[in-house]
Amino acid sequence: PRDDSDTGDEPPVKKSVGNGGVVVEHYNARPEVGVIQRLDSPIIGLKNFNNWVKSVLISKFAHPALVTSSVRTQRNKGKVLDLGCGKGGDITKWSKARISDYVGADIAAVSVEQAKERWEFNRNANRIQASFATYDFCSQNLEDVFAPEILEKPFDVVSSQFCIHYAFEKEETVRRLLRNVSHWLRPGGTFIGTIPNAEQLLEHLRELPPENQDLSFGNAVYKVRFESREHSGMFGRKYWFFLQDAVEDVPEYLVYWDNFVSMAAEYNLQPLYKEEFHNVFSEHQDHPEFGPLMVRMRVMDANGESSMDEDQWEAANIYIAFAFEKR
Ligand code: SAM
Repeated sequence: PRDDSDTGDEPPVKKSVGNGGVVVEHYNARPEVGVIQRLDSPIIGLKNFNNWVKSVLISKFAHPALVTSSVRTQRNKGKVLDLGCGKGGDITKWSKARISDYVGADIAAVSVEQAKERWEFNRNANRIQASFATYDFCSQNLEDVFAPEILEKPFDVVSSQFCIHYAFEKEETVRRLLRNVSHWLRPGGTFIGTIPNAEQLLEHLRELPPENQDLSFGNAVYKVRFESREHSGMFGRKYWFFLQDAVEDVPEYLVYWDNFVSMAAEYNLQPLYKEEFHNVFSEHQDHPEFGPLMVRMRVMDANGESSMDEDQWEAANIYIAFAFEKR
């Protein structure tokens, strides 16, 4: 069966680009599993939590941009670009946000095909117009892969979940990404996403004893292995990442937040929000909408018991959520 439950649909991770296609291969190779099999994942609690964080981001920072995008009617409204859409795990979230147009782009062609199938099979999502393309945000412009009519109207929201850190190998690839986000986003529109928590990863690295030659840390759920203790410059800070049942030791790059913000400013993108996942949780656990949503998305049971064990909870804080506004 197709997954339209909006839970447990975190796509697996494999990174490519600039690494001899390792990322593309990884993501393309991971099988699409139905919702039943997905429930068997040993990290289902963490996957549900990641999905909940994305839903919170969408409600807080995408909804306002979508609502102001057109005159108030009962019709669906708003146009969203899902950059690094993977297998389309967020399509259901966007259909619940009642958007009218969804554009999905990802470097992994097999994943893009699966995202398209997910949209075709999902009756609710089918109420929205959707277009998909294989696209490398490090080296291509959107106009290279999408027909002019798809891009005619600007986006109200660009969403990039768990993916843009792949661009931080080089300055030029980050610039390509930001140029496209900014160029196709309307003024007042929002750019939302999730990226690794550089400060937290570097703190773990600094705490490693000198005898830890491997430069690695983690637990049963995740493992991070840095290439070197020291690094100069804001780009190409490489580490290898493993996440149980999701990412199989693929190269990633740290996103230094201050550098990201100052580069984004050059493209008229102003920061609205940046928070560690643990804080997204503590900020919203008692919220009248997001608290009950946690139970519906099986992050918690009705008694407030978490579906994550300690290791999953620690792994959750590898990420931060962010939002920018286009001026
Ligand atoms: N956004 C989806 C989600 O949250 O479920 C997928 C996240 S998955 C961890 C990361 C995705 O980024 C993969 O689908 C991968 O193919 C994509 N990706 C990595 N590098 C990319 C690039 N240069 N251009 C476009 N997509 C890329």
